This record gives sequence, structure tokens and C-alpha cells, in this order.
Amino acid sequence: MKEGPVVACEHCATLHERMPIEPRAIATCTCCGYVLYRRSSVSLNGWIALVVAALLVFAIANYFPIAILNLQGMTVQASLPEALWLTWRQGHLLLAVMTGMFAFWLPLMQLMFVLWALLSIQSGRLPGDFRYGMRFLHWIAPWSMVPVLMLGVIVALVKFSSLAKLSIGPGLWAFGVLTFMLTGLSRVTAHRLWRYAEDAGLVQAPHPNLSPGRVVASCSSCGYVQNIKPGTEACRCERCHARMHRRKPNPVSRVWALIITASIVYIPANILPVMRLRTAVGESAHTILGGVIELWQLGSWDLAVIVFVASVVVPMTKLLALMVLMVNRHWRGSTVQRQRTRLYELIEFIGQWSMLDVFVVILLTAMADFPGVSQIIAGPGAASFGFVVILTMFAAMSYDPRRGWDQQPHALEAGALQSPASSTSGQIAPGRTQS
Ligand SMILES: [Zn+2]
Ligand SMILES: [Zn+2]
Repeated sequence: MKEGPVVACEHCATLHERMPIEPRAIATCTCCGYVLYRRSSVSLNGWIALVVAALLVFAIANYFPIAILNLQGMTVQASLPEALWLTWRQGHLLLAVMTGMFAFWLPLMQLMFVLWALLSIQSGRLPGDFRYGMRFLHWIAPWSMVPVLMLGVIVALVKFSSLAKLSIGPGLWAFGVLTFMLTGLSRVTAHRLWRYAEDAGLVQAPHPNLSPGRVVASCSSCGYVQNIKPGTEACRCERCHARMHRRKPNPVSRVWALIITASIVYIPANILPVMRLRTAVGESAHTILGGVIELWQLGSWDLAVIVFVASVVVPMTKLLALMVLMVNRHWRGSTVQRQRTRLYELIEFIGQWSMLDVFVVILLTAMADFPGVSQIIAGPGAASFGFVVILTMFAAMSYDPRRGWDQQPHALEAGALQSPASSTSGQIAPGRTQS
């Protein structure tokens, strides 16, 4: 019987045979426990319907105001595009571009590229530039931050409720629905779309030669496992033509450089004001910690805790966890490696949530736009904070968890392909092959 396509674990490089699993089941790596692939109960048509719906909700969320605010007879209708435009006009170009990318353009492009890919797969004919589209989708996916924006909207509304009267606009409900839809759609990754195309027979499925002496590597962009020349560290993927590395290059200097830069930028991010409140009586500057205290005093202790965790605990944890991963990288043993893999998963998971305060500032800018009476202006701390988030995300991306597993004594044993562990079916077979 012909073996199924080969899939490599992204965290430890163990090769597995991609076997059919039951709907809603998850196939995990037998070595490190990382999720290899899932099967949802949603069909291709179901995903298409969900993306179309999400695009409609996206339009509603951005067209209609999130909130309608009243102060001394003046009315402001705050929406996200308006907030971005105001921040731009106030001269905070970097901040406006950063937020515009993460909260508007990249989520929109992600939806459009997923829809295009799903429609192409369903039609049974892939366009010639499918691989470029999928490379782009793989690249932008971690930077699409609508759920973080949604939390930012809630925090901004609570903060603003102390300044003026406000009523909720239809944009807010749309953002709430969109958050759920995009969380579901985040499962439709570029790798998954390639697997759909493999299953439909539209692209070559990975069946590398695994005989002893052959070297295999997987493309991080499309997941294609292929033979490479022994001794090769970097080449082009045979299937998607992306630049691929057997292991990410220069991880030590790269990750340390990013950690150190992020730690340095983290200082102005906390000392400089993230926003200024200008009223008829004067101007006051607010730092991130000041904002947390203010929320606490407003009686929203739950939001104060959330903002504190997102803005202080998460970036610190990320930096410390990356340092731990870098410092103890010479420790051996599969238990240590499994713990390192869990720690790395945590860093990947919390990656974007520290962007919360930056979004809050942008939204408050749009809400409190009552010139001469009350105005909120973004401060230099906000852009610094955004840079800390970007730098730590790049640091996490430059780290290669497979290098730790390479040092395992059993890592180079040749053997049969692994069958992944599945949450509902599947058995663990003995023997393993490493790429
Ligand atoms: Zn693994
Ligand atoms: Zn590829």
C-alpha cells in the first residue's frame, strides 16, 4: 500500500505520514506533541461561505461607527478608518501605518487571499501564481490582529465613558462577530490550503526518498518535505519556490540582537507617554502604567488587570522566555526539549496581545476628538511600544526550536515514518526519521 504524504513537525523536524483522521481530530507529533495538522468538520464550501460572510462583516465593522460620543453638544462618530486618519493627521505616521496594517489591511488581505485560494482549489484549477499568493498569506498571517483590536475597543470605550456620554454603534457588534469569525478562519493557514490542494490532486504531494544517506528538509512556507543535497543549508523550495533553510540561519546572534534591541526600546515605551489628554484647563500625559492605575480607579479592575497583563506581563514574559530558551539551549534530554517546545508555543501564542495598548491609544484618539474641549493625542511611547511587540515577534520567528532536538542522541536514528498521535484515532508506531 502506498504511504500517505510526508509531513514534518515544525518544532522538532520528526517526519510523519499524513494519515486520514476523523473530523475535529488533531494529529500531534509523537516526539514533541506539537500539532501537525487538524481536520475540521467544515467543508471547503463551508469555509468559502465563512470567508464571504467575514468580508461582509469586515465592511460593516469599518464603515459604521464603533461608538457615538457626545460632549457639550458636540458629537463624534468614531470608526477605525477615522481613527487611523486622525492619528495620521496628528503627525504620528508610524503609529497610523502600524495600526492600519495590523488591524485593517493585513486582516483584509488575509481574508481575500484565503477566499481566492479556496475558490481556486474548489474549481479544480490552480492559477500559476497560487504559490506566490500562499507565500504571501503565510507571511502576513501572524500580523493580522483583529481579536486584539476588539479587546482594545472595549478598553477604549470603558476609558472614554469617564470623559463623555457614549452610545454603542453598529461597528462594535460587527467587530465582535468578526473576531469570532477570524479566530475560526485562522485555522485555514497556507499549509492547510496546500494540503487541501494536495488532497484534490492539484499539486504534488510530498513523498521524499527516505533511504539512509538521503537528506530531507521541509519548506516553512508550504510545508513541502523534499530531498536536498547533503550539506546544503539553504535552497529554493521545489514546490513554492520560497527560500528555504534546513534550519533557520544564525539563530543565536539574530535572536539575541532582537531581544537586546526590544529590551532597550521597552524603556522609552514605559517612560514616555503613550497619550496626552488636552482639555480646556491644560494638558496631561499618560504612560502605560498610569493608564492601568486610571482604569483601576474608574472601578474597571478587570480591564485594569487585562491591560496590565497585555502591556506589562506579556512583553516581559516574552523577553524572559526567549532568554531562557537561548540560555539553556545546550541542555539535553527529551523532557527538557519538550518543556522548551511548550515554552516556545507559549511565546508564539501570546505574540500579538501586547499590541493592545497601542490600539487603545489610536481608538481613544478618534473618540476624544473635541478640539478646544477635550482631545486625546497619541504620544511617542505608543510607537515605541509597537516596536517592542514587532521586535519580540521577529525574535520568536528567528528562533528555531528544531536545533534543540537536533542535539538529541536519538535524533539521527533512521527508521520508519511516524504515524501521528491523533486525539480520536491513530496509533503511535515505533521508529522515526529525522529531517
Ligand atoms: Zn515534533
Ligand atoms: Zn515551499
